[in-house]
Amino acid sequence: MGPVAASLKTKTLNDNPCFIMKKSVVIIAFFMSFVSAVAQTEQFHTDMKLRDSFWLDTTSADFQNILDLWENYKFCVFYDWCKLQEDSLWEPKGPLFWERSERCKYKNPDWILQSLQLVPYDYISGKELLIGIEKRNDTLFELRTMFYDQSNDSIKMRGVFTLPVVKHSDSDYKFFTKLSLIKPTLQKYQIGWLTFLYPVGYNFDNDSAESTFVAADSFVKALGLDNPKQFEYYLFETRTDFWRSIGVDVSPYDFIGCSRVYSGGRCFNECNIAFYTCGGESSAHELLHFLIYQKHPERESSEFEEGVCSYFGGHSNETKDVLLLRLKDWLNENQQIDLSASLSGYADFTENYTYMIQMVICEMVYKKGGIEMVFEMLFSISNNDDEYDAIEKYLSIKRKNLNKTFREYLNNNY
Ligand SMILES: [Zn+2]
Repeated sequence: MGPVAASLKTKTLNDNPCFIMKKSVVIIAFFMSFVSAVAQTEQFHTDMKLRDSFWLDTTSADFQNILDLWENYKFCVFYDWCKLQEDSLWEPKGPLFWERSERCKYKNPDWILQSLQLVPYDYISGKELLIGIEKRNDTLFELRTMFYDQSNDSIKMRGVFTLPVVKHSDSDYKFFTKLSLIKPTLQKYQIGWLTFLYPVGYNFDNDSAESTFVAADSFVKALGLDNPKQFEYYLFETRTDFWRSIGVDVSPYDFIGCSRVYSGGRCFNECNIAFYTCGGESSAHELLHFLIYQKHPERESSEFEEGVCSYFGGHSNETKDVLLLRLKDWLNENQQIDLSASLSGYADFTENYTYMIQMVICEMVYKKGGIEMVFEMLFSISNNDDEYDAIEKYLSIKRKNLNKTFREYLNNNY
C-alpha cells in the first residue's frame, strides 16, 4: 500500500462516526483512569500520612550549598565547644548559622539537636547518615539526617530529624526551626505570663489550665521573682507529636509502647518553652523547672529539683498519693535496693522511681521547714553527689541510716 492509499484509508477511518465515538470513549476512559489514579494516590498518601517527596538532585547547586552549610555548621559548633573549654568568654559562632528571628526567639536554636542527646563532639565524630534534602518551595528546603550509635555488632538509632533551611540568595542560606513553621497553625490560650499552644482538635481543658497557672504563679511569689518572662507551653497528644513539632521525625522515645501516649514533658529553660503530652495543661511540673531556672540560671539542675517539680507540679499526670503508694510497694518488693548506696538509676521509660524517691525527700523537708527550707536545700545542691550532705544538714538523717528511715517514713505515711 502506497502513501496515497494509506492516507485515504486513514481519512476514511477517521471520518467514520463509529470510530470517532470509540476514540472519544477511549480518551474519556483514559482521562477517568488518570484522575482516579491521582485521587487514589492522594488518598493513599493521606491514609498513610505520607508526603510527596521532592528530593533534590545531589548534583544541584542548592543541595551542594545546603550540604556545605550543614558541614560548616557542625564543625563550627564543635570548634565553639573546644574554645569554650579554655575561654569561658568565647562568643559562639554556631548560632549565626540560624535565621535571626530564630536566634531572637531561642537564643541558640541548637537545642533541637541537643534534645536528641547529641553533643558537639557527635557532630564531628558521631555516626551520621544524611538522608537527603527536600525542596518545599523556591526559598524553603528541609535537610533530613540521622545519627546513630555503633558499638560492636549493634547499631542503635539516636534520632532522625528534619532541619528547615531558608534560602535568601545563592550564597545565603540559614537554618530555621520546625516549631516556628508549625506555630501559626496552633491554637493559643494565654493567662498572665503563660501561653498554652496546642493543635486543632486537641481537647484543651481551660479550667485545668487556669488551676495550673495559679499553682505555678504561687511559685513565682514564693521564689520572689519580680516579673517572670513570657513562657510558651506546647501540648500535643503524644510524645511522637511533640518530637515531630521540633523536627525530630523518629525518636527513640517513639518505641516506648504501642499506644505511645506515655505522658511526660520537657522544658527548654533557655528558650522559655516546654512541651507536654496529652493533659499537660493539668501539670505545672515543667513550669516550675522554668521558674527555678529563672531564680538561678547559672546552676545545674539536680535530681532533687525533679522531686520538687514533681511534688508541687505533678508527675506523669498522676496524683502524689498514687505515685508514692506505687513507690512504697516497689521498695517493699525490692528489699535489696539500698538508698544509702544510691538515690539514682531507678528509672526506665515507663516508670521513674528516682523522681518518686525525690518527691518523698521533698515532702520530708517541706513538712519540717516549709517551702523556704525546700528552696534553701534545692539551691545548696550544686550536683547530685551533694545530696546526702544536704539531707543530713536539713533532715538530720545520716547517709548510713537513710535507707531504713526513708522506708519507715513511706510505710507509715502511705
Ligand atoms: Zn522534670
